[in-house]
Amino acid sequence: MTLKVDVDGVLRNLAHRVFGRPACTWKNLDCEGNTLIQAVNKNPRLCLDAQPTQYLAVILNHHKHRRMHILTSQPETWRGYTEHWLDIYVGDYDVIYTNDSDEKLQYLEPGDFLIDDSPCFKRFDQIIMPDYPYNRKVDPLYRVYNPGELAYVLRRFNL
Ligand SMILES: [Mg+2]
Repeated sequence: MTLKVDVDGVLRNLAHRVFGRPACTWKNLDCEGNTLIQAVNKNPRLCLDAQPTQYLAVILNHHKHRRMHILTSQPETWRGYTEHWLDIYVGDYDVIYTNDSDEKLQYLEPGDFLIDDSPCFKRFDQIIMPDYPYNRKVDPLYRVYNPGELAYVLRRFNL
């Protein structure tokens, strides 16, 4: 039973860096009409400048001295900045890059859990999901509304 962790929306607050507020929809637009992904593609350094989410401290505390297993979908041009960010804020981690959210499910064994904010999975029975406006139409195994609730779920499953 292993816990896997997404990056954006879970550890890193990229939407806040780009929009100055939480994203409202999965395909959010900034004032120039760019989606978040387009805005970061234009300036991948935003990946390094972004601040942690409110959930990072809980997830780090939960891992203590154990390595964090990261599953993330990132364009090639973001990855160097993302790994630099992870070196700074996480330290001990391994990372697997997938082409999209759904491909992450292939890396989950029965009994594994993934903390992820994406509404774009075929199934959500292994997903622990931080609540955001853009993911409220799906029904994950656990939806958490704040860091305390995430800490409770992680303790309860002894992950
Ligand atoms: Mg995400």
